[in-house]
Parts: sequence; structure tokens; C-alpha cells
Amino acid sequence: MLPHSLALIAILAGPTEPVSAPIANIQYDITFNRETAARRRLAVEMRFDVTGKGDVILSLPAWTPGAYEMTWFARWVSDFQATAGDTPLRWDKLDYDTWRIRPAGAKQVKVSFQFQADSLDNAMAWTASDFAFFNGTNVLLYPEGRNLDFGAMVRVNTERDWKVATGMHGSVESGYREKNFHDLVDMPFFVGQFDYDSMSVDGLNVRLATYPADKLAGPTRANFWSQYRRLFAPQAAVFGETPYDSYTTLIVFSDSYGGGSALEHQNSHLGIYTAQGIGQDWIASVTSHEMFHAFNVKRMRPAEMVPYRYDDPQPTPWLWVSEGITDYYADIAMVRGGVIDSAGFLQSVSQNMQNVEQTPPVAL
Ligand SMILES: [Zn+2]
Repeated sequence: MLPHSLALIAILAGPTEPVSAPIANIQYDITFNRETAARRRLAVEMRFDVTGKGDVILSLPAWTPGAYEMTWFARWVSDFQATAGDTPLRWDKLDYDTWRIRPAGAKQVKVSFQFQADSLDNAMAWTASDFAFFNGTNVLLYPEGRNLDFGAMVRVNTERDWKVATGMHGSVESGYREKNFHDLVDMPFFVGQFDYDSMSVDGLNVRLATYPADKLAGPTRANFWSQYRRLFAPQAAVFGETPYDSYTTLIVFSDSYGGGSALEHQNSHLGIYTAQGIGQDWIASVTSHEMFHAFNVKRMRPAEMVPYRYDDPQPTPWLWVSEGITDYYADIAMVRGGVIDSAGFLQSVSQNMQNVEQTPPVAL
């Protein structure tokens, strides 16, 4: 039995959080092809070197920043395996989304699992017979209790005649690479058959990927491009610089999806819209909103969310700044870019005010 004073210290300190053995040379492989599409799955592999003693403890994020809800992506994981060469390694679960692997002296370990990708939600992963989108938060494991400033390679294995679009730096051939886990999980992917084109806007590589193919096509695509490209200069002028070196807009149109929803990232966003919205200005307005988030809530954000942690909520009273000011400048950029006129701006702002006034206040 502990003396009282020591017992008190033990209670105050609480249970210690697990710390993984150090790992390095991390590479993630995501496979999506006609075969995995038929089962609506992504096949995920993670390879790494074990560079210290102890168990390797890996977790999947519980949420995607920007989508302020806890989801626990481990719920969509099956067929989890850990191997060293041909030798299976023992593992168990420490909590909902944490796996403890016993390397048993192995220096190189491979972890693999299947991810059920059937959630039409921009914070999650979804597939069709010829297409998938996914977020890094869904499928990229990180070592528990370790610094998240580790670089890693992401390879996407897919059909030769399918495409890949993402804000992540790299290519299908060479692989994609980012310098820390925060960036790795902040750049969602499109894989499969979809429309994909790009344009240089003020020297910036600007991309547009839309699914299904031929849905945003011809004059409606040209019209969207003319709205989209005109948003960059007025947004950059607010801050005098851009926080990205390329920008990628990823859009899924769905007949079954009511309305629209989009999720911001540092150099891209993923929108899911009803196909009935094609040709309507509100999609340009949502696009402008998500683009402005690259400045406000990604580069500059409430202190409570710096750095992001992926296993717990990070509540903040400042989302009205992150969302409200973003919404205001989204429509300001629309006027300054000549996408809408001042009457259109006033109509949009008064509609927003009405929506806020009609929404009952809720406690978060
Ligand atoms: Zn927003």
C-alpha cells in the first residue's frame, strides 16, 4: 500500500498513456482496383522499421479536423494483420482504435487491413464500382505517444487506366510524400474514373476533379471553371499571400445526396453535392468558402486546435470566427472576382442571416 501522499500523486497523474516503440521509414500503400471496388474496400498496408525496444502501438484517428464529430474510423477496419517477413506477429487492441503489436525482435514490420469504404461523407471513405475517395484520417495509422512530425510515403496502387487526384505532393508513379502526419491526413484522394483537368491561375497550379465522369461537362464545366479561377486573386489579396503551392477541388455529385456539404483542407477540399446543384451559383459560393478556409482555420486557427490531436475532441469557442468570417469573405471574393454582383452578395448575406436566425441555438 502506498503512503497517502504518494497515492494522491498517483491519482492526480492518472493512467499513463501508452508510448510506442520508435518507428521510421514509414510507407503506406493503399490499393483500390476493380476487385476491391466490388467489395467496397480499400486494402491498406503500412511498412516501417522498428528502431527501438518495446511494443509498437499504432492508432487510427477518431476524427477528421473540420468535421467536428468523433467517428472512430477503426470501426471500418477488418482483417488486421501484422507480419515480419513471412512470420505473423502477435497483436491485441488497447482501446477502440489502438493496436499493440509485439515485434519480437523484428526490425521491419508490415501491418495490413481492409477498410470498408461505404460512407458518403466527406470526412470518410466511399466507393463505387469505378471510383473511391478517402481521407488519410480513415486509413493512416500513427505511433502512439510519439511526435507526429514524421514524414512518410503514400503509394496508391490502382488500375492502369484509372486516375488519382490529391493535393499531396508526388505522383502515382513516384509515390506521394509529406513531411508530417498532420499534412499526410489533410490531403484526401480521388482514385478511379472521373473528370480531371487543371489550369494555371496567377502561376498557381489549380485542379478540378469531379465524379461521376461527364456529370460536370461541356458549358457547365466551363462556367464553373470561370467562377472558380476568379476566386483566387481576391482571396489572396485579403492576406497578401497564399498558404498553398497548388489547389485541388474534389467534387462528388450524387442524385441521392440532399443539398451539399464540403470539407476544407490546407490545399484542397472535398465537396459532395446533389446533382441538381450543377449550374447553380451556390456551388461556387461553397467552393469559395472551403478555399478561404485554407487561410482561416487551416493556416490560422483556434489555439485549442494547435497542434491537432486525433484521438480526442478539441472543443473551442472560436468556431464563429473560423466559420462566420470565412463565410463572409467567401461571398466578398465572389463579388470582387466578378462571379456575382453586389445585389447577389446582399441576397446571399441576407439568406445566411436568415438561416442563422432560424436555427435554434445548441450547446456543443
Ligand atoms: Zn466552413
